[in-house]
Amino acid sequence: MSKYVIACINNDVEILDTLYNKISRIVDSDYLIESYINAEQALIGCFNNIIAGNEILITINGKNNSSMTCDDFLVELSKNSPNTKNIIFKDILTLGNIQNIINHSSLYKIIPKQLKKVDFELIILEAIKLNAQERRLKEYQNVLEAAVDKRTKELNKINVKLNILATTDSLSGVKNRRSFFESCGPIISYNRREKKKLAVLMIDIDKFKLINDSYGHAIGDEIIRMMASKCNTTLRNSDIFGRLGGEEFAAVLPNTSERGALHAAENIRQEMSNLEYISPKNHKIKFTVSIGIAMLRPQDVDLEAILHKADLALYEAKRNGRNRVELSKEEMPNN
Ligand code: GH3
Ligand code: MG
Ligand code: MG
Repeated sequence: MSKYVIACINNDVEILDTLYNKISRIVDSDYLIESYINAEQALIGCFNNIIAGNEILITINGKNNSSMTCDDFLVELSKNSPNTKNIIFKDILTLGNIQNIINHSSLYKIIPKQLKKVDFELIILEAIKLNAQERRLKEYQNVLEAAVDKRTKELNKINVKLNILATTDSLSGVKNRRSFFESCGPIISYNRREKKKLAVLMIDIDKFKLINDSYGHAIGDEIIRMMASKCNTTLRNSDIFGRLGGEEFAAVLPNTSERGALHAAENIRQEMSNLEYISPKNHKIKFTVSIGIAMLRPQDVDLEAILHKADLALYEAKRNGRNRVELSKEEMPNN
């Protein structure tokens, strides 16, 4: 168990003896009373105690003939033991070393050489009490900090979960409408400003009402999940994909030309037509999608404007028989 050290420094052995006798009467075995005849020895002794896990509670500094002055000793000690209560006999103090101690260490009390026994005991007991209070406060602070730290980590985790919940479509697991629009906004502005090519795809499951009517809403949900997951993995990581509602999805493809967009859309269309959902009743359900494509043009102020053109192209795809990809009329050569 670690001990509390009271270090007495004095070149007069008799004084050291008196100090020892006075202090030992008021402290128990948790305290170590160390006697040093000079400051150098005291510093080594104190450091050894600190290494051993003991705490330097009090120093009582008297006359000292070594090359190390009392103030230098206290300045060095305070680097490793800042909470030590340093008591100094008045007769050894000069203005210079008071300055040094106050500025670079700490001074608890200055006492006259001849001090009544009861006063001396009171000073030591008060120093012990103060130190214990400070220690308890520090422990309390640590417990409090640990609790706050734990709570902050919990809150951060909850915030991450909340953010996922707020931005993810609960059925399909991809971005929801709001999150899709939020993610696309800055990319559209950047691509518009930099005059870069950007394509928007509107993807809608064909005759989805029929799937619901034939197999039930729950199976319809499974198809939506399957479709969204495959679309997401078919697209590039840099593309943004989200569910706008119902069986309708959209994707923003930055840095993509008409050709590139046609290729990506055709790829999705084919992947979807290859999918097969096997229901619990062993029905093999196939489905197709239609896709409308529109390109970002200088006059398109926001995502809504491009989505509208992609929606018209999607309508064309439906009109032309479904399971098709159509490019917005605006992109046609004679337009
Ligand atoms: P089209 O080829 O013209 O797109 O025909 P469609 O039947 O897919 O289009 P319509 O808009 O007539 O029907 C869409 C259906 O999607 C109707 C609606 O009940 C269903 N639906 C919308 N949201 C969900 C959903 O979250 N889960 C399921 N299972 N069905 C949904
Ligand atoms: Mg549909
Ligand atoms: Mg629809």
